[in-house]
Amino acid sequence: MIRADLLITNLAEAATLADGPVPRVGAAARELSCLPRAAVAVAQGSFVWVGPERNARREVRLRPRGREVDGDGGTLVPGLVDAHTHVLFAGDRAFEMAWKATGASYAEIARRGGGILSTVRATRAAPRETLLAATTARLRGMAASGATAVEVKSGYALTPRGEIALLRLVPELRRRTGLRLVPTFLGAHAVPPEARGRSDAYVDRLVREALPVVARDHLAEFVDVFCEPGYFSVPTSERLLRAALALGLGVKVHADEFVRSGGARLAARLGARSAEHLLTSTEADFGALARAGVTAVLLPITAFASSPGRRSPGRELVDAGVPVALGSDCSPNSWNESMPLAIALAVHGGRLTPAEALTAATVNAAHASGITDAGTVEVGRPADFAIFPLPSAEGLGYRFDVRPTHVFRQGKPISSRTLRQ
Ligand code: FE
Repeated sequence: MIRADLLITNLAEAATLADGPVPRVGAAARELSCLPRAAVAVAQGSFVWVGPERNARREVRLRPRGREVDGDGGTLVPGLVDAHTHVLFAGDRAFEMAWKATGASYAEIARRGGGILSTVRATRAAPRETLLAATTARLRGMAASGATAVEVKSGYALTPRGEIALLRLVPELRRRTGLRLVPTFLGAHAVPPEARGRSDAYVDRLVREALPVVARDHLAEFVDVFCEPGYFSVPTSERLLRAALALGLGVKVHADEFVRSGGARLAARLGARSAEHLLTSTEADFGALARAGVTAVLLPITAFASSPGRRSPGRELVDAGVPVALGSDCSPNSWNESMPLAIALAVHGGRLTPAEALTAATVNAAHASGITDAGTVEVGRPADFAIFPLPSAEGLGYRFDVRPTHVFRQGKPISSRTLRQ
């Protein structure tokens, strides 16, 4: 008899994603390993039993203070993993929407005081507590949408010290939200106003003054770079990422979002953990990613918000044999806190099947984030999961922005809806 302190019953199904290699590629990305009429038991924060509900009463006993949760005929999935966010910022750029609607270009918005540098000003000026409170609120929104793990990029301070200070907030954000957070150093998000026209000198400073501290104090798992014309060129990006690799850090690339400038090729050449966006990459680039085993992180909400007429190349990537992951890309430019919305847009615009999109938002997103024990529902793994009011996991790609009724991280509820019950 297995002893548990949490038992989840009355589930239409559990999509466990338990079987197969990680990351999932090709046909394996369509296999969710679903158990119909499932139950799941948890003890001390980890799954201890997963199986058909009819066996649960025989094989699992709740401890005296244990809790049984009625899944209400819903579908249990692994806690969603958001593989790409810029959630750590202050301020708000709602004022830009009317400008965008009336045709202002990115450059024009920047001239009028908007764009990324307006967020840099707000973030630099924000007191620590303001920044923590604003970011906590967004992260809680993500948890309420079913995320249990979130990658968090720095990138709105744009000085070596400021970027390090942003990363030092991450442990407190973990404490406040209960989420698993994976920090990424994105000091090369844009060229700061003080270094205009001197992106190389700015990257030199990051390499000299920031990266050694990031590595020494374990402030980030990854170093990322915005590799685009007008931001950081391929050779400059490569120099930064090679310095990161030499310090034992993982690397990621914001690649080919607006212009096909070689970002995906760079990611393949360096064996990066991931290449992200890829809206203008070609089939040949996808082949290079597949051969190098680089995971593609698609951000379909950003494609929708910032690149009208472009779509995330989900189908093409899966068919080329590239592992595909998903992120919300929550940022002041496309402020959203919903992985279910990213899943729905990956299906509707990116032409992933619902199963491929859920794989991309769980086990493959965990891989893209360097997490080895999340993204599946398996005995021995941390009990990170969400229950959606859906008759099957396919409903996640079918319906837009559906909200979970319960979200648990290490066997504890982390969304306010669950806490209220
Ligand atoms: Fe981004």
